[in-house]
Formats: sequence, C-alpha cells, structure tokens
Amino acid sequence: MTARLVIMGPQGAGKGTQAARLAEHLAVPAISTGDIFRANIKGGTPLGELAQSYTARGELVPDSVTNDMVRDRLAQADAAEGFILDGYPRNAAQVAELDAILAGHEVALDAVVELTADRAELLERLRLRAQVEGREDDTEESIARRLDIYDEQTAPLTAAYAERGLLVRIDGIGEIDEVADRIAVALDDALAHRAV
Ligand code: AMP
Repeated sequence: MTARLVIMGPQGAGKGTQAARLAEHLAVPAISTGDIFRANIKGGTPLGELAQSYTARGELVPDSVTNDMVRDRLAQADAAEGFILDGYPRNAAQVAELDAILAGHEVALDAVVELTADRAELLERLRLRAQVEGREDDTEESIARRLDIYDEQTAPLTAAYAERGLLVRIDGIGEIDEVADRIAVALDDALAHRAV
C-alpha cells in the first residue's frame, strides 16, 4: 500500500520516534530534514556548512536550500511508493513547494499527522533529550526559538491541511507504544477512506 505522509508537531512531541515506528509499520522511508541537515553538518559538506549557522540558533534554514534538498530526496527510488516527511513542511512556502514537487510526480499527500502536546510537557522532554543526546541546538534559547517558530509558522499550516481533509490529530502524550498505536489506528482508518 502506498502512503505519502507528513508528520507534524512541535519539537519534543516525539515526531522522530513516531515517524520511525510508522515507517516500519507502513514499509516506507522516514525522511527527516533535521536528520539530513545534521548528517551534512557532521560530514562537513557545503550544505552542512551553510545549514549550521541556522540550525545552531534554532532558525529555519532558508527555503531555497531546504526545498531543493527535499526535492532531490523525494526523487530517489525508495520514496516512489511512499514516505513519511518529518520536519517538512514548516512554513506556507514549503507547503506550496511540497505540493508542486508531488504534482511533478503525479502523486499527492494521503494524510498529515499532527502530534499535540502542551508546552510544559515539551520543555520537560526537551530538557531530558538535551541531557541524553547532547544536540548542539538543544540550548535553552534555541529550544524556545524553535517552539516560537513552530507556533507562529508551522502550527497554522495544519488548518490548510484540515481544510483538504488530510489532517489526523493525535494526542502525543503517553508511552511511546500507546501513541504509536493511536497513530496506527487513526491512519489505517484515514488511508482506507482516502480518495482514490
Ligand atoms: P529538527 O530535527 O526537525 O528539529 O530540525 C533541526 C533544525 O534543522 C531546525 O531547527 C532548522 O534549523 C533545520 N530544519 C529542519 N527542517 C527544516 C525545514 N523544513 N525548513 C527549514 N529548516 C529546517
């Protein structure tokens, strides 16, 4: 079964973990723009050098860079039958770009999963992650900046997807297995009823 999905939610809502679980459940690749940037930064590539000054501050990498990167990634063979995009789109211009990329492949999104969590819970989770993973951008300022950008630019995008009948909202609070089950049940239902 093909499945072209976006998973959205503020940092700390468990997006990456759930995207990986879902990718296994649906047998499609999880594509995280944050992971691609981190791999490039680690590898010292020109893309990594460019991205680093933005990611370290919690700012968005410019759309021109991010959009090209996603376009290239979605053109790879393993994404032909589906994908789960994690961390993209993050603003209205990226929503339009994703539509254009998919239209170019004569396909469209099947669903957009939004993981919800309140800010106090998110801050607690991010503080824990900072201790465990030691991510360069998990400083207090950068975390606050990313949550603000999410509230201002990314959260409003869900309304557009809801209008298209694509939005599946899931409570992201709970054990990993519990949340994964909620997503699987809601998505299986949404995918079974999608327009063909
Ligand atoms: P994430 O792992 O999704 O939190 O992403 C880490 C960082 O990578 C973000 O704070 C941004 O600096 C950058 N990034 C990831 N995805 C995007 C995107 N769609 N647009 C712009 N910047 C992004």
